Amino acid sequence: MNRHTFDRSNSGPERELLAAGASPRRAARTMHVRWGRREVRIGGDAPIVVQSMTNTPTADVEATAAQVAALARAGSELVRITVNDAAAAAAVAPLRERLDRMGVDVPLVGDFHYNGHKLLTRHPDCARALSKYRINPGNVGPGRKREDNFARMIEVACANDRPVRIGVNWGSLDQVLLARMMDENAVATQPRDGQAVLREALVVSAIENAERAVALGLPRDAICLSAKVSQVQELIAVYRMLARRCDWPLHLGLTEAGMGSKGIVASTAALAILLQQGIGDTIRISLTPEPGGERTREVVVAQEILQTMGLRMFAPQVTSCPGCGRTDSTFFQELAASIQGWLRDSMPEWKKRYPGVETLQVAVMGCVVNGPGESRHADIGISLPGSGETPVAPVFIDGERSVTLRGDHIAEEFEAIVAGYVERRFGADAGSAATGSPPPSSSSNPSAGTQTLQS
Ligand code: SF4
Repeated sequence: MNRHTFDRSNSGPERELLAAGASPRRAARTMHVRWGRREVRIGGDAPIVVQSMTNTPTADVEATAAQVAALARAGSELVRITVNDAAAAAAVAPLRERLDRMGVDVPLVGDFHYNGHKLLTRHPDCARALSKYRINPGNVGPGRKREDNFARMIEVACANDRPVRIGVNWGSLDQVLLARMMDENAVATQPRDGQAVLREALVVSAIENAERAVALGLPRDAICLSAKVSQVQELIAVYRMLARRCDWPLHLGLTEAGMGSKGIVASTAALAILLQQGIGDTIRISLTPEPGGERTREVVVAQEILQTMGLRMFAPQVTSCPGCGRTDSTFFQELAASIQGWLRDSMPEWKKRYPGVETLQVAVMGCVVNGPGESRHADIGISLPGSGETPVAPVFIDGERSVTLRGDHIAEEFEAIVAGYVERRFGADAGSAATGSPPPSSSSNPSAGTQTLQS
């Protein structure tokens, strides 16, 4: 059973999404990003791709390789790295080799500003080791050199058969273009406000530069576009314009989204609206990491946005209640966190052994009010006792009450039940055994266990 895969077949799950109010995915060309035998498709009917960016100095090959590997392990399907100077450019091929030796085949995207034309020309091994180049047309050089520098980067892309992202950003918008459009607006019979001209300039810059790249010989299917701003409403407006005016795949992201909950909420608000309207072929969440925080957080957030919207499935989902005055212990919070962490940690192995396991729905609930009901809606759920309730924890499997746990090993026993369920439902012998029966490791005896749960 794969209830939520957004498969573009306009049947089954996609129809459910459309019925729920989602717009059909915008028709876009398909870009291919390759490394070795690995191929990532962006646009067309491909799933929406999750990508990320390192924050280590690229010249530090060891640190960057470790971070790329961590991002790839977390689920990043492309990883962008900074290529900002000769040392960084010289490190790209050794970085790629190291990743290959580590068995990490995630394609690398080079992020270029100001000197990309020089670095790609002087470091041909860097140009070959990267699978895609990001070009910011606002940052390709001053004055008349802009055109030549841009053309040089496109030449290298053509020579190496590499796709590019034309990525404009309102913090580095082509000032010549903006000045020209402001001047034209000033003498227009019905001038628009400055913000509208800025939005238009972002869209025009992205599309005009993409057309220039095509005129220079880059295949149309080797281009994707982004037009990033840091304000939610502006981002939505700009991408809606961009989506209407071209058929290139679109890379979504709220630039400089911020730190912690602010960054997550702002990114989610912007991207969810666009994705619901069928806009967006690849996403990156630009979170400022908390001090000591994991860079992989941006990958997890990107996956969770797509998964909570029913657009892609990455890992089993845990539904847990917020807790309230009916729970006077943190046990269920700890159990929810522990189950979520265990499921995520199990995924690298499970993905190989249990196709479809990412669609699993698990519920961990705090009391009898919504616990049994929510647990029945999940594939497998546990309803912990609230304060004043009998200290037992019924488990529900496929909507039916199964075993009842008690004592101080509930977390381990519940994990064993989930593991058994996964094996029976998604394993090689799936279908040959009933899914509703509890595994041998769990107890159906309500008196089993030695210690009463704290309620
Ligand atoms: S399920 Fe129970 S503990 Fe959880 S929020 Fe609802 S009433 Fe509170």
